[in-house]
Amino acid sequence: MYIDGQWVQADGGRTFPVTNPATGEEIGRVPDGGTAEARAAIAAAEAAFAGWSRTTAYQRSAFLYRAWQIMLERKEDLARLMSTEQGKPLKAARNEVQYGADFLLWYAEEAKRVYGETIPAPRGDQRFVVLKQPVGVVAAVTPWNYPISMITRKVGPALAAGCTVVLKPAEATPLCAVEMFRVFEAAGLPKGVVNLVTALDPKPVGEEFVTNPVVRKITFTGSTPVGKMLASQAAANMKRVSLELGGHAPFLVFDDADAEHAAKGASLVKFLNTGQACISPNRFFVHRSQVERFTAVFAERVAKMKAGSGLDDSVTIGPLVNEAAVAKVEAQVQDAVAKGATAVAGGARLTEGALAQGHFFAPTLLAGVTPEMRIYREETFGPVAPVIVFDDEDEVLRMANDTSYGLAAYVYTRDIGRAWRCMEALRFGIVGINDINPTAAAAPFGGMKDSGLGREGGHEGIDEYLETKLAGFSV
Ligand code: ADP
Repeated sequence: MYIDGQWVQADGGRTFPVTNPATGEEIGRVPDGGTAEARAAIAAAEAAFAGWSRTTAYQRSAFLYRAWQIMLERKEDLARLMSTEQGKPLKAARNEVQYGADFLLWYAEEAKRVYGETIPAPRGDQRFVVLKQPVGVVAAVTPWNYPISMITRKVGPALAAGCTVVLKPAEATPLCAVEMFRVFEAAGLPKGVVNLVTALDPKPVGEEFVTNPVVRKITFTGSTPVGKMLASQAAANMKRVSLELGGHAPFLVFDDADAEHAAKGASLVKFLNTGQACISPNRFFVHRSQVERFTAVFAERVAKMKAGSGLDDSVTIGPLVNEAAVAKVEAQVQDAVAKGATAVAGGARLTEGALAQGHFFAPTLLAGVTPEMRIYREETFGPVAPVIVFDDEDEVLRMANDTSYGLAAYVYTRDIGRAWRCMEALRFGIVGINDINPTAAAAPFGGMKDSGLGREGGHEGIDEYLETKLAGFSV
C-alpha cells in the first residue's frame, strides 16, 4: 500500500493472494488493509490537501504530464502485468494502457482551463465573481475489468482540480494499481497527494470512505447494488458522489443497415474484454430482414476466435474473472435455452486441455431470445450475444429503453433521419451510430438511471471534483 509517500504493509503483515484467471496460478500477494489503513490514508490526504490545492494549475499539469510520460515508457510492462492479472489479450491490454494514459494527458491540459465567471449583479455597487475550487479529499473505488484506465480516469481529473486522493482497487487486480502508484511516485507527486489501500474485503475500507467526514467526494466504478449502497451511505454525510455502474446495452440493426458491417462491429464490441465491460452490448435487436445475414457473419467470426491466456499472441478472447462469473453466464445461457433460445455458436464452458485451469466460457451466439428470458433483463458481463428479432422502429426503441440501465446503446442504420431519431430517443448516456467505440479521454462517459451519476472524461470530468463558489462584492 502507498500511504503518505511510503510503501507500507498492513497491520500485522496480513496479505492476500492474486491469481491469474487464465491459469489459476498465484502471481503475487498484496497487503490486506482495513479500517486503520484507510483512516491513515485519509489523514495523509487531508494533510497534503492544504499544499496541493494551493499549487498552480501549471504545477499540477506538469506532474500529470510527467506521469503520462512515465506511464507510456512503462506501457509494455503494464500491459503484460494486466494480461497476467486480469486476463485480457496483450493487444487489448496495450490499448487500455494507452487509453488510461490519455486521461493523464487530457487532464494535464484541462487543469489549466478551470475557468470562473463574472456575472452582472443586481445593484450598481455590487460585483459577482464565481470561482471553482477543489472539493477536498476524494475516495475512489475502482473495478477489475479495466484495472488501469479506471484509476487514471478518476485520479487524473481529481489531481488536476487540486484534490488529493485515496484509492481502493478491486481485490482481483491490486497489482495493476500498485504499478500505477509507482508511476505516480516516479512523477514526484508530493507525499499524501495520492494514497493506495489494498484490501481483500472491500467493506471496512468502503465504510471508512463513506463515513469519515474528511472525505468530501466518493467516486466509484462497479456494480449497481454496491454503487447504490455507497451513495446512500454517502448521503448521510452529504458527500458528493460519481457512480459508473452496470449497463445493459441494446444494439439495434435496422433493415437499411449494412448487416455485414453491423455483425463485424457487434462481434468486436461484444467480445472485447470477454464481454466484461459496462458498455458491452447485452441485447442485439436485429430487423427480421437482416437476421439471417447478421447471424451468419457473426457466427463465422466467432468460429475464428481462440480462447486462452492473454499473453499468447494468437489468443483473441481471454478468461472471465472468476468461477462465479462463469457460473452466472452459464446459468443465463441455460435459462435461455430452456425457454426456447438456440445456441448458434458456443453455449458452454471451455474445459479442453489447459483451459480447464482457468475460467473460460465459449463465445456464444443465442438466436430466438425473448423477454421471458433472464438474459433479456440481466447484465451478463460475459461473452454471450443474444439476438432478438424486431419489425419496426417504434417497437424496437420501446424494447431498447425497457431496462433500468442507461449507459451505452448502439445503432446501425444508413438513414440519417432514423439515426438522429434513435440518438434522441434512446435513454442512454452514450450512443454509437454505426460505431462501436464511442469513448475517449476527451469525451464524457457515463450513464442514466441505474447506470449511475456524473460523467468521467471530457471537460465535464473535472467538474465532478470542483465546488462552485460565488463571491458578491460591495464596491
Ligand atoms: P463487480 O461485480 O464488478 O466485481 P463490485 O461492485 O463488487 O463489482 O466491485 C467494484 C469495486 O467495488 C471493487 O473495488 C470492489 O472491491 C468494491 N466493492 C465491493 N463491495 C464494496 C463495499 N461494500 N464497499 C466498498 N467497496 C466495495
